[in-house]
Amino acid sequence: MTPRGLLVVIAGPSGVGKGTVHARVRASLPDATLSISVTTRRARPTEVDGVHYHFVDRPAFEAMVAAGELLEWAEYAGNLYGTPRAQAEAAVADGKVVVLDIEVQGALQVREQAPDALLVFLAPPSFAELERRLRTRGTEDDATVAARLEVARAELARRDAFDVVVINDDLDRCVAEVLDTITAARAAA
Ligand code: 5GP
Repeated sequence: MTPRGLLVVIAGPSGVGKGTVHARVRASLPDATLSISVTTRRARPTEVDGVHYHFVDRPAFEAMVAAGELLEWAEYAGNLYGTPRAQAEAAVADGKVVVLDIEVQGALQVREQAPDALLVFLAPPSFAELERRLRTRGTEDDATVAARLEVARAELARRDAFDVVVINDDLDRCVAEVLDTITAARAAA
């Protein structure tokens, strides 16, 4: 039997290593597709519009919200982020695994919009380790790091609302655990 399509959210605080885990999980799933989010954040120098995000201004984002075009959306550290609905829903209907890299408020909206979705919370080994990772990444200035740490505290407090909590201490083990959870969820239709 072909496994069913599935919407998978892998959420967790900024700096937990979400990007790496996402890349590894997608590379291990031949029928995984990436959802490209819409955001009002400015592009970082290495980011390409339409590849990393669709970069839009606030009025354009708000028009998408009003038209019901976003499956979920949230404000995160002063910017808006959202998941385009049509592409994700079509891919799941087509039997694909759609993996969303989103923050926690958005993840919990997915629960309401798509009750069959699998919600994975990626947690750091400790808060101190999260802070160290965020500071050494060097993509944000001090004020932005401080804002992200404050958000992270609130996000960690909501981990129990997820289907599964996976601690990202050892990358291989963490990825294997996420993949096992996805396989089990697809089999349990
Ligand atoms: P960054 O600015 O570092 O790219 O992303 C900041 C946060 O926004 C990350 O936690 C990321 O997972 C989250 N994010 C990215 N796209 C979306 C989205 O479409 N919806 C929501 N709710 N969060 C998103």
